[in-house]
Amino acid sequence: MKKLPIHEYFYTWQGEGTHTGRSAFFIRTYGCPVHCPWCDSAGTWHPDFKPDFVARLDVDELVALAVAASPALVVVTGGEPAIHDLRDLTAAMHAVGLPVHLETSGAFPIQGSFDWVTVSPKRWKPPLDEVLAMASEFKVIVENATTIEEWWQVLKPHWRGQPVWLNPEWSQSANREVLNAISDYVKLHGDPFRAGWQLHKLYNVDALDARSAPPVPLGGRI
Ligand code: SF4
Repeated sequence: MKKLPIHEYFYTWQGEGTHTGRSAFFIRTYGCPVHCPWCDSAGTWHPDFKPDFVARLDVDELVALAVAASPALVVVTGGEPAIHDLRDLTAAMHAVGLPVHLETSGAFPIQGSFDWVTVSPKRWKPPLDEVLAMASEFKVIVENATTIEEWWQVLKPHWRGQPVWLNPEWSQSANREVLNAISDYVKLHGDPFRAGWQLHKLYNVDALDARSAPPVPLGGRI
């Protein structure tokens, strides 16, 4: 049975996007070649935060863990999960009746069958057209006031009515200029744009599961 490098797994609820607030078993794969300077999951790739040991779990183990949690859905995130072949994992989760959601930068072809695909593009490794075409929702990480329009010009040709979430980059989440840029854009353009947030961070809900890894936000240290 295929094994995957896993940074962490935990039972929580989805804190972002259209499925916010739904119970979710999170699987965070190890590894990401995108290297965003503000990555909030830098423990999955950055040498300064590299763990001593990365577990390799087989699909059956991951399914058993998810089933034991009995979540509304499973979220596969990273790191960049799309660098891994996830076909066995999604098939096995579906076999036990669990919907599987993917969170990806869109920079790598998706290997697996997902019920929901969140594409959050990053300029350090731009998204592939074929992945943009599969998006159930877009999530733009807003670093500054110009980010939104820049990304919308990239996403617009692939837009098929999906929500476009505008989330402040977390280190800028108290920056009035960034927050007001999001508010202004949503008020000016309306749908499909939605002001977003990482609600799970306010609740600190991931940490309630002792299996979750301590967060290591990069915050521009690269
Ligand atoms: S934010 Fe996502 S895509 Fe960017 S380096 Fe971190 S895990 Fe990779």
